[in-house]
Amino acid sequence: MLGSTSKAFFHLLAHSGFLKRLASRYGMRRPTSFARRFIAGETIAEAIDAAREVEGRGFTHTLDHLGESVASLADADAATRDYLRIIDAVVASGVGRNISLKLTQLGLDVDKASAVDNLRRILDRAEPAGFFIRIDMENSPYTEVTLEIFETLWQQGYRQMGVVLQAALHRTERDLQRIMKLGARIRLVKGAYQEPRSVAYRKQADVEAAYARLMKVLLTDAQYPAIATHDPAMIGLARHWSADRGVAADRFEFQMLYGVRRDLQTTLVREGYRVRVYIPFGGEWFPYFMRRLGERPANVAFVLRAIASE
Ligand SMILES: Cc1cc2nc3c(=O)[nH]c(=O)nc-3n(C[C@H](O)[C@H](O)[C@H](O)COP(=O)(O)OP(=O)(O)OC[C@H]3O[C@@H](n4cnc5c(N)ncnc54)[C@H](O)[C@@H]3O)c2cc1C
Repeated sequence: MLGSTSKAFFHLLAHSGFLKRLASRYGMRRPTSFARRFIAGETIAEAIDAAREVEGRGFTHTLDHLGESVASLADADAATRDYLRIIDAVVASGVGRNISLKLTQLGLDVDKASAVDNLRRILDRAEPAGFFIRIDMENSPYTEVTLEIFETLWQQGYRQMGVVLQAALHRTERDLQRIMKLGARIRLVKGAYQEPRSVAYRKQADVEAAYARLMKVLLTDAQYPAIATHDPAMIGLARHWSADRGVAADRFEFQMLYGVRRDLQTTLVREGYRVRVYIPFGGEWFPYFMRRLGERPANVAFVLRAIASE
């Protein structure tokens, strides 16, 4: 219960203009500023530096250009062109080719057809260059439309893309079967958003039980699933379940967020598991940052100490 209260509180704070201005002033200005713990920086060059550093430690990565819903087609077009530039910069840099994005960034709230066109523009540039594009999952009003768009493009022949399913949602059991039937890659997460009781489990124990159930199916039956969690219990279960059933360590990957449980990330790589680090970057980092604080209010103390020391 504490979990959902804290999530709700931080989601509320994420809309505060005052906090946003405060964070923007202090969060990124120095290499040691507090937001840099979770966000690689504001520019693509900083993201690529972080990607190199992460690769040097034996991880793979996915780059996420932070941004939430845009309010006009012009902004959606600008976000799409940003992604095209990122693809070119990644190719030029030689780091791994994997990107995560959100459909509302591409204009889903403005016009669905334009968002699909924008995603197609990105895939048309990315797929021939060997990228994998992961479509992040947003809150529950977007679940169905995100999966529909994914299925449409899949039927049109795009294959180097995957989706995210959230264990917290009641519907995910069905969605898992639906996406597995396509043979598409799924990233399983607990779910970062504050959701109504009618669509989601609210108790942490229920979310964890659902995560465990879904993860077991993915590990034995799905195409290269991504187990995206920092929860040592879920990670332990994944290790045992896969080992007991002869699922080799290269048939799936763990995924974790940049700056979260770096110790655990390192341990898993040392043990021979694949670990992909999700590297967010960009000017619009505040809502993402607030979601991370909401997951672990102890992070607030870390932020306050950092602000005080500046
Ligand atoms: C690679 C990746 C991609 C994701 N993509 C999406 C997405 O598309 N849509 C979506 O809704 N959600 C996404 N999420 C977020 C996810 O839904 C959860 O909100 C988040 O991962 C926290 O849940 P957890 O499984 O780590 O477990 P929790 O039970 O929240 O955490 C387990 C332990 O991990 C550590 N931990 C977790 N979060 C933090 C933190 N912020 N700071 C410090 N320590 C922490 C703590 O030690 C905690 O005890 C993604 C997560 C990952 C790792």
